[in-house]
Amino acid sequence: LIQLFMPLNILGFAYREIRQGLTDTEAMFTLLGEKQEVADRPGAPDLAPGPGALAFEEVRFAYRPDRPILKGVTFHVPPGRTLAIVGPTGAGKSTISRLLFRFYDVTGGRILIDGQPIEGVTQRSLRAAIGVVPQDTVLFNDTIRYNIAYGRPGATEEEVVRAARLAQVHDFVMRLPEGYRTMVGERGLKLSGGEKQRVAIARTILKDPRILILDEATSALDTRTEQEIQAALREVSADRTTLVIAHRLSTVVEADEIIVLQEGRIAERGTHAALIAAGGLYAEMWRRQSEAVAMAEAAAAAQAAA
Ligand code: ATP
Repeated sequence: LIQLFMPLNILGFAYREIRQGLTDTEAMFTLLGEKQEVADRPGAPDLAPGPGALAFEEVRFAYRPDRPILKGVTFHVPPGRTLAIVGPTGAGKSTISRLLFRFYDVTGGRILIDGQPIEGVTQRSLRAAIGVVPQDTVLFNDTIRYNIAYGRPGATEEEVVRAARLAQVHDFVMRLPEGYRTMVGERGLKLSGGEKQRVAIARTILKDPRILILDEATSALDTRTEQEIQAALREVSADRTTLVIAHRLSTVVEADEIIVLQEGRIAERGTHAALIAAGGLYAEMWRRQSEAVAMAEAAAAAQAAA
């Protein structure tokens, strides 16, 4: 999404005015002019309850017929497990989450949640079953309580506080001038990227979705923020089927399986340790990223010393 937002950023003020009213991914897609191409089938049932098994079977997809993006992608995520998707920029990682949300229909293969093909169920029930922690959270111009409770309208005070605690944002809120009643967003208190992300995590904990998508931030965060976010992410993804769309590699190490997408296909798959040992594409990405992190840390240390 960050890619899609970049050009809009230059519209500056007007864009921010529109954007601040939108937190929900669906609304963002509408704003970005992505056609809503899918519709519920007549009489489609809701997604039946289940433990959250996710399957992509030979999934093929193209935004335009002449340019295939996914060329037969197969993976299974058992309930409660974590799959991380890595790969070069433009490889199709975010496309996988868009297809899971059914912003587009696949052009071949199937996507199933608990054995039910997603194109056969209502979009409302599908989207209720999936939670997203986006890389860039947008807050409403309202109280911090409202922003967290948005995950489950009607949540009690206790539920909001519990979610905030799990997301490691409660202590921060208690230090705000008016606690949970503090106004945030563009016209209220501005939160840092890391604080906003923890609000998004609290929101998702309240929503309690069967399947979680973590759209990992593109930009590096400082080490402390990173650790706080990692702890919060561990809470929200514990025992929940999780898909990590990894633009960096920091959250993938603990994933049950990592797939490396390249040119629309799965080029490598395995655990972090196995992929490092294999010495292929993933090992190379990891080496380059570790170097970049070390350089950034050295530069920051030099600046702090100066
Ligand atoms: P990054 O790590 O840079 O975010 P990604 O792997 O998530 O990349 P995707 O966003 O899935 O990549 O995009 C895959 C390809 O599809 C890219 O080449 C992109 O330009 C193209 N693409 C994405 N959205 C659209 C769209 N709405 N219409 C046409 N092409 C698109």
